Amino acid sequence: MHHNQDPIVALATPQGVSAIAVVRLSGKGVIGIVNQLFCGSDLTQQASHTIHFGVIKKGDTKIDEVLVSIFIAPHSFTKEDSVEISCHGTPFIVAQLIQLFVEQGVRIAEPGEFTKRAFLNGRFDLAQAEAVADLIAADSTLAHQTALSQMRGGFSSELQTLRKALCHFAAMLALELDFAEEDVAFLDRKDLKTLADKLIKTLTLLIDSFQLGNAIKQGVSVVIVGKPNVGKSTLLNVLLQEERAIVSPIAGTTRDTIEGTLHLGGIRFRFVDTAGLRETTSDAIEAIGIERTKQQLSKAFIVLYLVDLSHMTFRQAEADLVALGGGALLKIGNKMDLAPPDALEKFKDYLCIAAQTGRGIAQLKDKLLQLVEQKPTDGPATIVINARHYDRLQKSKQALEAVIIGLEQKRSNELLVVDINRALHALGEITGEITTEEILGEIFSKFCIGK
Ligand code: GDP
Repeated sequence: MHHNQDPIVALATPQGVSAIAVVRLSGKGVIGIVNQLFCGSDLTQQASHTIHFGVIKKGDTKIDEVLVSIFIAPHSFTKEDSVEISCHGTPFIVAQLIQLFVEQGVRIAEPGEFTKRAFLNGRFDLAQAEAVADLIAADSTLAHQTALSQMRGGFSSELQTLRKALCHFAAMLALELDFAEEDVAFLDRKDLKTLADKLIKTLTLLIDSFQLGNAIKQGVSVVIVGKPNVGKSTLLNVLLQEERAIVSPIAGTTRDTIEGTLHLGGIRFRFVDTAGLRETTSDAIEAIGIERTKQQLSKAFIVLYLVDLSHMTFRQAEADLVALGGGALLKIGNKMDLAPPDALEKFKDYLCIAAQTGRGIAQLKDKLLQLVEQKPTDGPATIVINARHYDRLQKSKQALEAVIIGLEQKRSNELLVVDINRALHALGEITGEITTEEILGEIFSKFCIGK
């Protein structure tokens, strides 16, 4: 792929006042351009990865004292000649510096252009480039780790293996077409089906990992449900250790859904206290009738089902469970302090706590972490966190399912190859073997300028 290396410039650190700001340049001739404005050592004579102190001047006017870092192609992020100028972090100085370079014919970089160049120059594949964006947006340890491992190519190598197997598929089928007259078979169709099944299984695991990946990125949603007065708000308050929800002994006072976040073991949990199940006419949860609660439930990664040990029989508690769909279910018995002595035995598979006294809260937190960290043992080491990857993985899976149907219906090689190529294309779009300007635009426009 061709692209020009015209010099570009952008502020690489956040806008606003700071101790230090970094202005970044990349492209043909940038070291010489900076050198013309720089009073200090001759930058064009310096080794790569060296830092130089000096003054940037506009004519006779001193703009700022700076540190200039030199990166000579291909040993830079973009694989082009690059310069990073650390200046004082005032918007006025930064604007003047950038203006100076623009006057020298340097163009202001488009959003994500540095990363786009890194990709176009083969530094990494597309999935890794997108991980750079995810890394910047990461706001918890696990999100950070997931993005980092993806940036290092974990996800890509998994997909490369899949693609290779598929390519082999397509090549063999095409070969059979070439020898159609002779009626030879290079591939046992049974093997083909075995391979397609295997690929679908791997894709499914990757696709399923998106739910966790998304949870990691957005925060794991934990919806607290239960009858009025079981202690939902109290529990939420204890978990968040601040007065986020109104706690009141009057039934149904939690008027709306309330959210709060809590970091546990590097994972961000988003707690949602539902409006409750107050419109129940009988004991059954089907009568909830609260659209909002239902919506929250359907989106929940974990449903935390709370019952009142002091008021409910085990049967009453379990009756409500039937209609609880959504994520992983965590059954909690509250008001342990008021519970009859035999409650603990009856509610065996419930985690018993007393929200008001804080008893059992540490165990509850452990349990929440376990639910997230518990990954399928035969699952991929990789977690999909990017919505675009998720979309292409699904497309690839659909195409492979069509291949299986094709095999069952004994379709011709020509038709099978069409579906295999669809699957290949979708996978190629993730790693960047297949790119269009449209895809590049979609990805890199989401970056901020200077990345
Ligand atoms: P919600 O309607 O489910 O949100 O319930 P609340 O959190 O408003 O609690 C209802 C009542 O139960 C309040 O008076 C709380 O103080 C009380 N409560 C909550 N948890 C406990 C507990 O562990 N033990 C006792 N004894 N009372 C509790």
